[in-house]
Amino acid sequence: MVNMRFSDILGQEKAQHFLRQVMAREKMPHAYLFTGIPGVGKKSTAQALAMALNCLSPQDGDACGSCASCRKIVGGNAPDFQVIRPEGSKIGIDQIREVNHGLSFAPLSARYRVLVFCQSEAMTPEAANAFLKTLEEPSLGNIFILTATEPLDLLPTIVSRCQRVSFQPLPRAVVTNWISEKKGLSRKEADIVAGLSEGSLGRALEMVESEFLEKREEWLARIAGLPAFPKTKALGVAFKWAEELKTGDTRGGQGSGFGSAVVLDIWKSWYRDLLLAKAEGSEHSFMNRDFSQNLKKISKGFNIKNLAESVFLIDRAQMDLVENRNSALVVEHLVLQLSALAARRPPLDPFTNGSRQA
Ligand SMILES: [Zn+2]
Repeated sequence: MVNMRFSDILGQEKAQHFLRQVMAREKMPHAYLFTGIPGVGKKSTAQALAMALNCLSPQDGDACGSCASCRKIVGGNAPDFQVIRPEGSKIGIDQIREVNHGLSFAPLSARYRVLVFCQSEAMTPEAANAFLKTLEEPSLGNIFILTATEPLDLLPTIVSRCQRVSFQPLPRAVVTNWISEKKGLSRKEADIVAGLSEGSLGRALEMVESEFLEKREEWLARIAGLPAFPKTKALGVAFKWAEELKTGDTRGGQGSGFGSAVVLDIWKSWYRDLLLAKAEGSEHSFMNRDFSQNLKKISKGFNIKNLAESVFLIDRAQMDLVENRNSALVVEHLVLQLSALAARRPPLDPFTNGSRQA
């Protein structure tokens, strides 16, 4: 783990402010639910809270980052700071039983034992019910932090026992600054990554650490060139692309492979930009600002209805992927539908003839 004090966390001032306030209370609530999209600092904030609560020389309600207690947490060997993650795709009853067993003993050395349940919506019904009992009978000195994207995916009885703390997507400019300063990207590249991350620093980092930018251009060029295919050729192309993406999907894990999910995000950003361009929206709102000129030109060949329908189709394909449908079939079907929707457009290759802004 890295040093993660409140002051190290990007944005989320409201969440931090709230937590610093409850820490100062005589009787601090024992359960919290951090909600927000992945990659906006929920887990980091949980660590910051654990550090601040146990720090031996806290400063203004924040951890010092260098005392024995802080070092233990940063070093990842603090027995009283536990992070529980889904095993496979679920948090199972055995994991909760193990937690409950540990809770029957007092914290080992820290003042507060902090238990973080990442993606708590992944608890199985049995696990959630067992955990509910734990929440109902709080033992002193234990702080529970659940993280989830959306509280609706949790048992209402769990939600009602937790203090809700919501985490907002980070502003594009904040992510841009951070990425260009810490990761050495040009401002222009950082801005593109930030726009596509939709306010998730975690996602922006994944993009920076993969060959995302190069591949993005390749897949944008493909979708931009799609309408030029005759129908018979579209079938072959759809099959080929789907097979290619399947390789990225099977590399497994979240975000590790450049697969269908990533490409669908990229395509959706493209069609949303086309819609904006068609509606003469400001190019500052484009997610793919580096292709502003191409977007304006290409949008002329579409009508608004077909663009909106294209965004809708991509949305639906994304839902199908989440539901673990056969990803190759989903992509193949989508490419065919997008191709069929594409109206006549000027017969030029958008990225070679067009003027990509320098
Ligand atoms: Zn400290």
